[in-house]
Amino acid sequence: MPDACRHQRTRLIAEDDATTYVECLDCGELFESAELDRKSQPAPGFEEDLSDA
Ligand SMILES: [Zn+2]
Repeated sequence: MPDACRHQRTRLIAEDDATTYVECLDCGELFESAELDRKSQPAPGFEEDLSDA
């Protein structure tokens, strides 16, 4: 899948009060850098199945 970019190289686009908008130099995607800091939040539908434990 070609969208496996980890956005390791970014450049600053704009800054808000609590948000920094950056552009990935590798894939050109624009996103809020805050999104990268929220990795600790489990994505919807991505819960560990502990029912067998
Ligand atoms: Zn990227």
